[in-house]
Amino acid sequence: MARRRTWNPITIIRRRLQRIERQSATRNRTPWTRAVDWCLPLSLPLGFVLAFALDANVSRVSTETLATVRLGRDDRGTPLRGVILRDDPAGVPWPFGSPLATVEIRRRTIEHGWPFASRTTVAPLELPTVPLADPDVVVDLAHPDAARGLLALRDATDVDLFDGLDVSLDVMTTERRRDLVDDVRSRATTTTRSWSATLAVAATLWLLLFVSSIIAVRGIQSGAWLAQRWRRRSMVGKLRDGRCPFCGYDLSGVRFPKRCSECGRRIWG
Ligand SMILES: [Zn+2]
Repeated sequence: MARRRTWNPITIIRRRLQRIERQSATRNRTPWTRAVDWCLPLSLPLGFVLAFALDANVSRVSTETLATVRLGRDDRGTPLRGVILRDDPAGVPWPFGSPLATVEIRRRTIEHGWPFASRTTVAPLELPTVPLADPDVVVDLAHPDAARGLLALRDATDVDLFDGLDVSLDVMTTERRRDLVDDVRSRATTTTRSWSATLAVAATLWLLLFVSSIIAVRGIQSGAWLAQRWRRRSMVGKLRDGRCPFCGYDLSGVRFPKRCSECGRRIWG
């Protein structure tokens, strides 16, 4: 029964929707569409596993210099003195008769996980000190082993920086950086865990895995389709040349071959 042609937009839309519904109900579900359907639920646990693996194995370290202190003496034999450096080091003259070393107060932050940091570790503050007498020797004044490094420095260059840590912390205290002093003294490592970041990482990876698995399935599907098309073409080509499409045996002498006399397979058409 042919339906009357209509220009009523509501009728057009209604008919179109009916057609889509009918088509989707009768459409054959191929193994390929089923594989695509499975990509979504299967990539979810994989996303979580990958998120935890990245959290354990991938980390970024960033170092921030919070303050810079210069150490020196006014004269030989006078006590060690320190000043905080505010501007560009190259443009500021040393205020001591006998300049000795530069101390940086540094915070190292380690972020674990990708693309977001689901775990963040803040290491104890470091005070790497570069003596002017030998810039290749760097001693971390905050490290428990600092005394050994300072002893070696004094033996090699006659520079005494044993009061370096106390002087640096005194400078920080007078500069109202009590927080840094407490931080250096406690030598605490703090780790913060963000489960929402872990969830965000897992969701991002889930999406990436889902999209890439669909691309992979569709890629294999097109490869299979091309291979099938090529096989059909070569079969048709062989038939046209009067040869068996399976084994290539010459059948041009036979008028209507039903079966190949060489391999015994049925020939259609
Ligand atoms: Zn044959």
